[in-house]
Amino acid sequence: MAPPTPETLPPIEIDRALCDLCGACVALCAPDSIQISHALIRVDHASCTRCMKCLPACPVTAISGGVQ
Ligand code: SF4
Ligand code: SF4
Repeated sequence: MAPPTPETLPPIEIDRALCDLCGACVALCAPDSIQISHALIRVDHASCTRCMKCLPACPVTAISGGVQ
């Protein structure tokens, strides 16, 4: 079986009910794939490299996905 690539890994998801818009994940996302605008947070799945750095950075564990 081929090793997983960013394209084959499940997308990063953010639970908006848990997220308090602290911005910690936004600050460390190298490709700027997480944006907060008008009190809404969203992930650009096309540019996200599934580096997984955002998951442990979230103090309220609102981020999931990226692993099989
Ligand atoms: S997995 Fe990496 S590239 Fe994707 S949103 Fe999180 S920090 Fe950004
Ligand atoms: S680190 Fe967690 S709580 Fe903070 S903005 Fe990102 S998803 Fe929301």
